[in-house]
Amino acid sequence: MIPYSTQDIREADIQAVVTTLRSGWLTQGPAVEQFEKALAKAAGTKYAVAVNSGTAALHAAYFAAGVKKGDEVLAPALTFAATGNAALYLGAKPVFADVDSTTGNMSVADARKKITKKTRAIVPVDYAGRPAGLAAFKTLARKHKLVFISDAAQSLGATYRGKPAGSFADMSIYSFHPVKSITTGEGGAVVTDNPEYARLVKLFRSHGITKDAAHLKNKKEGGWYMEQQALGYNYRMPDINAALGTSQLRRLKSFIAKRAAAARRYDRLLKNIPGLILPPQDSAANRSAWHLYPVRVDAAKRRAVFDYLRSRGIGVQVHHIPVHTHPHYQTLGYKKGSCPKVERFYSTAISIPLFPNITLRQQQQVARELKKSLAL
Ligand SMILES: *Cc1c(COP(=O)(O)O)cnc(C)c1O
Repeated sequence: MIPYSTQDIREADIQAVVTTLRSGWLTQGPAVEQFEKALAKAAGTKYAVAVNSGTAALHAAYFAAGVKKGDEVLAPALTFAATGNAALYLGAKPVFADVDSTTGNMSVADARKKITKKTRAIVPVDYAGRPAGLAAFKTLARKHKLVFISDAAQSLGATYRGKPAGSFADMSIYSFHPVKSITTGEGGAVVTDNPEYARLVKLFRSHGITKDAAHLKNKKEGGWYMEQQALGYNYRMPDINAALGTSQLRRLKSFIAKRAAAARRYDRLLKNIPGLILPPQDSAANRSAWHLYPVRVDAAKRRAVFDYLRSRGIGVQVHHIPVHTHPHYQTLGYKKGSCPKVERFYSTAISIPLFPNITLRQQQQVARELKKSLAL
């Protein structure tokens, strides 16, 4: 089976983890700070705070943004469920916007229509690794006094107007699940230029407890003293995982270059096939991290194409099931039909295999089988 995505682990990664296992620090040690420093540099931000998943990063970012019961968080419906779930964790209501049918990224026009007095944060997702319209969302967020959070789980390594895509929002979140740009096994991070947001994310990832003398509410009672100031979680990233992250980050540029080269190869192998729509190409102002290569087929054929490819050992997948259509969201009162472009995009999408070490032969095999499946 050629998977839709997979990690690249080298001897250097293994050595970095082994060194950490021997170092005496399995968690709360120096490897986490080291990773955070390297990540902030890659993201083009002042601060990076590592946590143990992308989902935890969303939860922490929403907390830092002040999202609470009764608030609304505006996000596209074409995303992984976690973008919405993290709002539910805080008692807030995710409001789902439609997307642009070409890129799969949140529609600025539809997002604007769905802003209310209760909207606290706006959270575009860089679908498939391609940066959303970050400049337009920033303007919209400023105008309506919203916190602008970028769900960049899929786009570490992407650039927008020549800069790292993660440097445009008030906070951006990353995921380090094995299918994403780099991996720590499980892991995530919030990056920001705002010291208060960074402080709140740190507080949240460690139970809401702080020892920081500058921020204590009460007088320090002794060397042991610490305070729980909010209801946080244990969202800490272990040093073992952070060491893997630092080692992986050294190859981030090469991972993205290889993904982009593979995407260009698909562009060539799959051009001019009737009934097949390819993802948009990169432009100088918008360079995708190429997390996915989602092609679009006739909705009536999608199931047959998918089943045929799977039966031929091609590990295709569909990204994403529109969040508002999941049974859990249906029980909360969300309605099918409320984001028609997302639902249409979903009904036609298939992600074909794309990862840094995919070979030309594998891509040729995918192209050959995909052509056959469309002729069925
Ligand atoms: C992967 C992903 C997440 C969740 O990240 P985890 O590390 O799996 O918790 C959130 N949002 C999007 C858009 C993702 O692709």
